[in-house]
Amino acid sequence: MSEFRKDPVQNRWVIIDPDYPIDDRGLYTVDLPDDLPALDPDCPFCPGREALVGPELLRYNFIPKDGVDWDIRVVPNRVPVLRVETQIEKEADGIYDWMSGVGADEILIESPYHNDLPHRIQPNRVEQVFWAIHDRILDLRKDTRLNYLFYFKNFGHQAGDVVVHPHSRMIGTPFIPATVEEELLGGEEYFDLKERCVFCDMVKQEMKAGLRMVAENEYFISFCPYASRYPFETWIIPTGHLSHFEASSKNHLYNLAEIYTETFKKLHKVLENVPFAMVMHNGPLQEEDLPYFHWHLEIYPILTCCPGQAMGGQIYTNPVAPEQAAAALRGESE
Ligand SMILES: [Zn+2]
Ligand SMILES: [Zn+2]
Ligand SMILES: [Zn+2]
Repeated sequence: MSEFRKDPVQNRWVIIDPDYPIDDRGLYTVDLPDDLPALDPDCPFCPGREALVGPELLRYNFIPKDGVDWDIRVVPNRVPVLRVETQIEKEADGIYDWMSGVGADEILIESPYHNDLPHRIQPNRVEQVFWAIHDRILDLRKDTRLNYLFYFKNFGHQAGDVVVHPHSRMIGTPFIPATVEEELLGGEEYFDLKERCVFCDMVKQEMKAGLRMVAENEYFISFCPYASRYPFETWIIPTGHLSHFEASSKNHLYNLAEIYTETFKKLHKVLENVPFAMVMHNGPLQEEDLPYFHWHLEIYPILTCCPGQAMGGQIYTNPVAPEQAAAALRGESE
């Protein structure tokens, strides 16, 4: 039997329907050889080809070992969709608004090792990745033209990714992405009504109920949201209120790296090499300490193709109830 469930932040309804066919053409998977090399001479992000990808915006070094001397690098996207050095210009053409493509487009190379896949990468390396995002946010927010830094990671060509080497991307924009804007508005409405953060309330309820929980540690939980749009949709969120990722403490980032690796290991165990998209929803760059917003990571495994009703009407039909997905990820069979 199908049911409707409402997302408490965006007030969006989704259909959870266990009888809805996933896709009889088979589930997507990222085709990777078992013996993926640690270093690939043809990969643009592997050590030895640093000069290929342009000037570095950030580098974390370590003592050279086997010819490798860095942990993390951030470089400008070779084919950027936006550029910081452009002047901001705005125009209206009748009912249409236009703005020059000012912004930042950066690639975060998460590891020198080609085969550090999301379920294999070590927590101490992931912690460095989060420090790099933290440092880039602090740097980019000095450019007051930028209002948002959108951090995301795509894995597998079904998610739009072309390079296997562990990497993610940051796009800084003068505007706030529509989904984040909706979450900010939804959070503010809830706060005006109840004087509490909707995300904090969600965390409390999920921890108490337990049935959608995937993992937890001192500072974070990961869980399958009540109104999940996609099968095995999983969020990672700090348990204490924090509107901006860049306000995280050392303990936060340590615990974040732990829960991140644990969550991806669990996803891999159930959905081997599944393509996915991961996005960070964060507070706007030029604001701080918002009482009604709470930063988080959203992970969407891509099991099948996205149907038109989701693209055109935001009507999502999810065949896997989040309780069922969470139980599978916790290693309990239903
Ligand atoms: Zn590589
Ligand atoms: Zn909160
Ligand atoms: Zn969100």
